[in-house]
Amino acid sequence: MGEVRACPCRRGEPFDGCCGPILAGEKAAPTAETLMRSRYTAYVVGDMDYLLRSWHPDTRPAELALDPDQRWLFIEIVGTQRGGPFDDNGTVEFIAHYTLDGTRDTMHELSTFVRVDGAWVYLDGTFQA
Ligand SMILES: [Zn+2]
Repeated sequence: MGEVRACPCRRGEPFDGCCGPILAGEKAAPTAETLMRSRYTAYVVGDMDYLLRSWHPDTRPAELALDPDQRWLFIEIVGTQRGGPFDDNGTVEFIAHYTLDGTRDTMHELSTFVRVDGAWVYLDGTFQA
């Protein structure tokens, strides 16, 4: 069946064995970092539905518009706090690399994740200088 596609989150796994099943709702992200990576992958593949589903209901935007001129290159996880299988909150600091209209730039954010009904969701984030 088709070619094996590397997962955009760059964990070194094929998409179908990494973020694919999480985006499809077949598998829950066990940690906040896994959820963060899956949300990055959703930005890469343009899965708006998953981005909204994995957003906390209190902070979720009504709709999302992705900039078609923005190309995501890769994500670096800078650090994590809590967010493990036995935690109910955690933070992930990351730097996402992209190009916008051909110019390279980065987004550096400290994101907060919490569990809702057992599932990790993105609560909010603050940009890091
Ligand atoms: Zn992945």
